[in-house]
Amino acid sequence: MIVVMQSDCGEKEIARVQEHLERKGLRGHLSRGAERTVIGVVGQVFPELQDELEVLPGVREVVRISRPYKLASVEFEPRPTVVHVGNVAIGGGELVVMAGPCAVETEEQLLSTARAVKAAGAQVLRGGAFKPRTSPYSFRGLGPDGLKMLAAAHQETGLPIITEVMAPQDVELVSQYTDILQIGARNMQNFSLLDEVGKARNPVMLKRGLSATYEDWLLAAEYILSGGNRQVILCERGIRTFETYTRNTFDISAIPVLRKLTHLPILADPSHGTGKWHLVTPVALAATAAGADGLLIEVHPNPDVALCDGAQSLTFENFERLMRQVTAVRKVTAQMAVSR
Ligand code: PEP
Ligand code: MN
Repeated sequence: MIVVMQSDCGEKEIARVQEHLERKGLRGHLSRGAERTVIGVVGQVFPELQDELEVLPGVREVVRISRPYKLASVEFEPRPTVVHVGNVAIGGGELVVMAGPCAVETEEQLLSTARAVKAAGAQVLRGGAFKPRTSPYSFRGLGPDGLKMLAAAHQETGLPIITEVMAPQDVELVSQYTDILQIGARNMQNFSLLDEVGKARNPVMLKRGLSATYEDWLLAAEYILSGGNRQVILCERGIRTFETYTRNTFDISAIPVLRKLTHLPILADPSHGTGKWHLVTPVALAATAAGADGLLIEVHPNPDVALCDGAQSLTFENFERLMRQVTAVRKVTAQMAVSR
């Protein structure tokens, strides 16, 4: 349920609605815009609530939202959410490319990649220090040492950092070293982790679970939003299907569908979405054309010896080519958006 306030309503009227909600054991999330002020009601709403709220001073109308997710919905917030990290705006109309190795391996590997992706036009550096691996015997990341290397790479290049946090107890530590907290596909429904990053001050990028529906995914985002963190980015990274040629099946429809359902920025990860380096550029181009707000791309100085995901990692040269092609597609689709 959302409470749409009259355009000239004051603080007193807003407070009165909030107090009413609190008395009923509910919470109100205020969204103040130039054109409208709304209060999203979160909790177990009951049928009489609509009448009770409609008669309060300053209230224009009360609209019921039938979707199970509220704060993530376009009904609650029709304006696109723009997430700011440093000078980078994600969801603000530009295509933001986040690139770097799957895992941080050495200082040299990370720094050389950071320099190369920056020179090619990437705006955010990715790299995992805590790696969720299917097998416990695979390389599971450098942990805190990897975080320090990411901070050093940020220091040198100025690129904001995105890195994964896997456990609720690590959120505080990882937040000190990164600009964006990444929640991996395998943890999309780790509800205690979602609660914890909901309390964090860093933006969060929530990857789609391996077999998550759009609704599952948006409800996972709702955990973070309802915890008080409004800076959430979604990332389509492919889902499990019966196809085995590709590592996952990249769901291109996710981009326009989510655009309809939510105000949150939507990124595409064609690296995990395909699992093969030669498929990364074509799928990145398709995602760009479909309207993604950004791309997450794995890049390695020498993919053949990568400790993690070498098969899907681009060389510096291939990444540079991807960037040129993506920029060309972007120019065309930006014109289409204007003439639509
Ligand atoms: C990653 O981006 O490094 C990663 C592990 O991706 P996913 O969670 O999508 O598998
Ligand atoms: Mn990877």
